[in-house]
Amino acid sequence: MKALVKSAPGPGLDLLEVPTPEPATGEVRIRVLRTGICGTDLHIDSWDPWAQATIHTPQVIGHEIAGLVDALGPGVEGLTLGELVSVEGHIVCGRCRNCRAGRRQLCPNTVGVGVNRDGGFAEFVVVPATNVWQQPADLDPDVAAIFDPFGNAVHSALAFPVLGEDVLVTGAGPIGLMAAAVVRHAGARNVVITDVSRPRLELAERMGHVTRAVDVATESLTAVVAGLGMREGFDVALEMSGAPAALQSMITAMAHGGRIALLGLPTGELPFDWVRVVTSMLTIRGIYGREMYETWYAMSVLIQAGLDISEVITHRYAAADFRAAFTAAQSGHTGKVVLDWTQL
Ligand code: ZN
Repeated sequence: MKALVKSAPGPGLDLLEVPTPEPATGEVRIRVLRTGICGTDLHIDSWDPWAQATIHTPQVIGHEIAGLVDALGPGVEGLTLGELVSVEGHIVCGRCRNCRAGRRQLCPNTVGVGVNRDGGFAEFVVVPATNVWQQPADLDPDVAAIFDPFGNAVHSALAFPVLGEDVLVTGAGPIGLMAAAVVRHAGARNVVITDVSRPRLELAERMGHVTRAVDVATESLTAVVAGLGMREGFDVALEMSGAPAALQSMITAMAHGGRIALLGLPTGELPFDWVRVVTSMLTIRGIYGREMYETWYAMSVLIQAGLDISEVITHRYAAADFRAAFTAAQSGHTGKVVLDWTQL
């Protein structure tokens, strides 16, 4: 089969012929239809310090996967050959305290598909059957492929109650855009999203879920808050950018007792105003991955209830054109970029 491989330390990826994987006991082989490009994949492609410390070559990468069940390993039940599935990219140990308590997203022994074992930028991928999420046959495979980042968005957006609350989302990348859609759907009053990318802010406006899409390079958040008639600041905030300036302005824009979910990963030291955190009595919660599988259940019922996230996918490429796809995703001006593995 063909697969995108980090074949040796250094920048770049290679589309190579590699052996088709066989499912072991408890595993499933999936014929991949679509794979989304994640920020993680960009780090691996560019070979930044995180990738250098994490990836052992050769490695097939990619973890935002939709495909059809192709083969079942021994002992797998409840799945049908040919059915559409998405993949949860975090494989947990099942033995630690958190796993045994049902808090699997908190497992300290997580193995990442496409990071620590072969991934889904490939014609076929093998994962544990427990990491497969069955999808309705009529779901757009492009949408099925982005359930992993959609799950990050839903997990963050539902970390705190948002009904009637004013919500700030910093970062209008795909996860921020989807999180804004979810908090709107969940009954937030004002939803303000910020970024410094005009195309991403325009996409936020086109998707229609936000009250204001704010370019913080040219407009102050304080002025926006005043313009919306908000007297005490934001009740809930979702940090999706990893930008130090975003977190700092967020902390000063929160109402007393405000609650912050942090998903964006900062790349270096992150100085911010702890005094303000204390005196504003803020709650800050780190979010990583998705709840297995309560977030997945929420995603499926949100889609069934009419939440449309398809507009967040702005670029589609044949897998053979992966370099153009990675260049587009790296630009910081796209929504979600998806590779089609039926076009090689
Ligand atoms: Zn565990």
